[in-house]
Amino acid sequence: MKLVRIVIVVAVVVATAIGGSASALAAEPGQVQGLMVIASDGFATLAWQPVNGATDYQIERTPVDANATATGPSVITGLWRPNRQVHNELPTFADAGFNPGDRFRWRVRARISGAAQPFSTPVLATTPPPWGDPAVPGESLRTQWETTQAAQFTSDSNEFAYTGEIDARSQRVRVVQIGRTVLGRPINMFVIGYPAPPVTPAAVAATSPLAINCNVHGNEPSDREGCLILARKLAFGNDPRTIDLLSHTTVLIVPSINGDGRAANTRGNSTGQDLNRDYSLIRQPETFAFVKMLRDYRPVAAFDGHEFGNSSAGDLPMLPPRHQNVAQSIFDQSQDMIVRHMYQRGALAGWWPCPYGCANGGSVGLSEETILRNTLGLKNVTNSLLELRSAGGTTRPNESSVANNRRRKTYSSLWTFNEFLDYHRANLASIVSSRKAAVAFQVSNTGRIVFRGSRPIPAFPAPHPGESPPPVDAPAPSAILNQPPCAYKLTEQQYHGARSDGLTAAERIDAHGWKVIRVADGYIIPLAQPERGLIPLLLDAQAAEELVGAQRLLPTLTGSLNGPLDVAAGSVACLAGATVQGPVTVGPGGVLIATGTTFSNSVTATGAAGVFLGGDTISGTVSVTGTTGAVVIAATEITLEVVVSDNNTSGGTTLLAGNVMHGPLRCDANSPAPVNIEIPNAVAGPRSGQCTAL
Ligand SMILES: [Zn+2]
Repeated sequence: MKLVRIVIVVAVVVATAIGGSASALAAEPGQVQGLMVIASDGFATLAWQPVNGATDYQIERTPVDANATATGPSVITGLWRPNRQVHNELPTFADAGFNPGDRFRWRVRARISGAAQPFSTPVLATTPPPWGDPAVPGESLRTQWETTQAAQFTSDSNEFAYTGEIDARSQRVRVVQIGRTVLGRPINMFVIGYPAPPVTPAAVAATSPLAINCNVHGNEPSDREGCLILARKLAFGNDPRTIDLLSHTTVLIVPSINGDGRAANTRGNSTGQDLNRDYSLIRQPETFAFVKMLRDYRPVAAFDGHEFGNSSAGDLPMLPPRHQNVAQSIFDQSQDMIVRHMYQRGALAGWWPCPYGCANGGSVGLSEETILRNTLGLKNVTNSLLELRSAGGTTRPNESSVANNRRRKTYSSLWTFNEFLDYHRANLASIVSSRKAAVAFQVSNTGRIVFRGSRPIPAFPAPHPGESPPPVDAPAPSAILNQPPCAYKLTEQQYHGARSDGLTAAERIDAHGWKVIRVADGYIIPLAQPERGLIPLLLDAQAAEELVGAQRLLPTLTGSLNGPLDVAAGSVACLAGATVQGPVTVGPGGVLIATGTTFSNSVTATGAAGVFLGGDTISGTVSVTGTTGAVVIAATEITLEVVVSDNNTSGGTTLLAGNVMHGPLRCDANSPAPVNIEIPNAVAGPRSGQCTAL
């Protein structure tokens, strides 16, 4: 239904564009009928009625003046093949590469087994110029790439000037510097909201923001240009859609995480490190800054922009987080964004999204947790990779012109990012719900750990000759740990020791936002926390690219205990899927980590080093006071009163998230104050103190 409606809109616009003189001569045999053109930002969607027996279609574009007189040669700019969209009965093609604002005449013809049929009746349209009224300050800003008509990419200094002008002129925008590159270039982030962005990272997080990482590989610059154009429209556009989007969330755009690589046009940063193989290890200041930003701003959805050197693949290869430690709900939500939204919307607009790894893609799109796509998934962020096909290839034969090629790539990224915004707006409840389910899964420490290994990705819907999904990437037996430990323990040297590959483990663990329990002889990092799937990939000696090979702490109780449990001073109790009949008492310096455990009585911790309750059921009261390390109570059902007070935690902010509490909840004098990372608790009784809003 939606498709039909949009086609009607196209028809109306086309009729307007060509003065309503759309009446065609009697069709010749094999001639395309019903050609319609709608021009958008940097591309034009062509739609037509299919011709019986057509094996492909050629799109012809001719520059014309106001009198419809040709001002240049007619060129075949596009080849539509029956593998490029999910609605082959309604063919569309996003013709791109032209200079926005120019006027063209388009024709389409079918070919039947290579034999060209007559061209359609031509359709004329003037394409929209670059967005923004040149007479309105702010809107009038243009990037170097735009002013040179794609002859030059936007330099670092031009980016900083443009960014600074947007920041200064738009109330909706705050530009923050999230870090600096190895060579000292600022890494800026646009924080965009309406009427103004929230002031603190935590306040931004409360709006369920979305993030776009525009340019990690310095020699893949086209998404960055799309991002800079997008930022201007969001900063100054007063159309209802823009206002609506920005009234409901905050948009985070990082144009250049790898400014040094961009300036040098290299894939890696100035040390040669591929930053998209460093988002877990965060050895480099660029990735370290980005991961800290994720910790503080907590986007719920993201896109990561790239270019891809495969001339026979789709326009817009995409891929979700596939690593098998990513929660199923995040994988499913990411696939929903790609398959249900992008494939469908692409078929309407004429773009060709497909699974990354398409024909001849080789061994790409695998499970390295070092790749942002996977890191984000392991941080419970719905997301996708975006690859702009570098070369024009068979389907875009007019891209030997460098500017044409660059414009097609940049405007296809702009289309994708706009669709991403729309997807987030329309599906936020589902995205948030998937994140909640993911955190509940992760804190419960349920199921095996996979060090490397991916979920399968279905092929682009048939017919899709050659456009195959990325390779199967099942985990090898040596990459599977069937019984997860309950925590890892690092020695002082492992935790604080100087390293040759970057900052200390302590600093990197802090940047990831993981909770840590200080004990007499080391540091314990329980898996009962939201990034459970990522923790072993950095702390287990069996992992492919670990940070340290820490000691696994295994469960101390998995069965049934018919009496009370006393966790003595200095000892660690790890309960996994256990049942405890009597009351549980944790003494000073003790550690209690319990996942999937049923407590028939109360849980009382006084002066503990750490208390982690994930996915438990507790029939009595819970009292956690005076903890020194860290406290996590998440996805747990508690029958009676919960008291969380006087916890002065050095190992991270107390987390209370996604619990169901049938009694009251009282929180007093905790430092820092507890948070729920935007996953509210259901509390039947009164809430008081610091937990009033949790
Ligand atoms: Zn890339």
